[in-house]
Amino acid sequence: MSEHGAPYRILLYYKFVAVHDHEALAREHLAYCKKLGVKGRILIAPEGINGTLSGTVEQTNAYMAMMNLMPLFKDTVYKIDESEGHAFKKLFVRPKKELVTFRLEEDVNPNELTGTHLKPKEWYEKLQQEDVIVLDGRNHYEYDIGHFRGAIRPEVETTKEFPEWIRNNLQDFKDRPILTYCTGGIRCEKLSGFLINEGFKEVYQLDGGIVTYGKDEDVKGRLFDGKCYVFDERISVPINRTEEDIIVGKCYHCGTAEDRYINCANDLCHLKHICCEACEEEHDSFCSKECEEKTLATLEA
Ligand SMILES: [Zn+2]
Ligand SMILES: [Zn+2]
Repeated sequence: MSEHGAPYRILLYYKFVAVHDHEALAREHLAYCKKLGVKGRILIAPEGINGTLSGTVEQTNAYMAMMNLMPLFKDTVYKIDESEGHAFKKLFVRPKKELVTFRLEEDVNPNELTGTHLKPKEWYEKLQQEDVIVLDGRNHYEYDIGHFRGAIRPEVETTKEFPEWIRNNLQDFKDRPILTYCTGGIRCEKLSGFLINEGFKEVYQLDGGIVTYGKDEDVKGRLFDGKCYVFDERISVPINRTEEDIIVGKCYHCGTAEDRYINCANDLCHLKHICCEACEEEHDSFCSKECEEKTLATLEA
């Protein structure tokens, strides 16, 4: 039994390491995970592994033990959450070209070039330093329901839009210390290396990401406002465990404080938007009148 008696766990992890035949390894890994009964999403690329999965305490223990027996993935760090049940409906283990899709002209190997890692306590202190720039390393919809206080909201919908956005917007800040963070840390391993290549002089990243920060017993999630978006059925998790815990999102329709996401009911739109329960009912889960009318028209046709 786990600490809080929860029968399930959710693991989040990555490791950058050269993988020789990533397609063969992905096939083997899939067969093993199926047999084990875990669910989730695991990517294996020539540059390493990135996964998030759920399973019983026994299953996740067996998974980590198996990973520890593999020389390649031996020292992988796991962020572990307790859970009442599975956090995923299915299991995907996919071979990919890259773990993080930045589409850089000059790829970054985080084992050779990356920003300085800061532990939660060091991050908390650095955040309060006057001259720092704090860059959210995630997409705007992640930022919108929770972020570090004072962080810059990148106008990007996918990670591959980052390089261009940074070149267009952050050129004047190269001489100031820049702090980047993301959910579990993997995106910043590359993003921070990119910033160094772009000429930023002092680049830091939050070690283990927001999720690790939220578990730290000293900082207790301080200076993180709102919730952390996660890519499983929970959608978001609380981070700030002090009395400062607040809602930073706003309902797309009425503007009230809210942090739940829904997708537009129009299959051709599917816009992910923050929506309060009253508005979800009122607008039948559509993001706009236009989407509602279009969908009704197809149904009548
Ligand atoms: Zn509303
Ligand atoms: Zn829509």
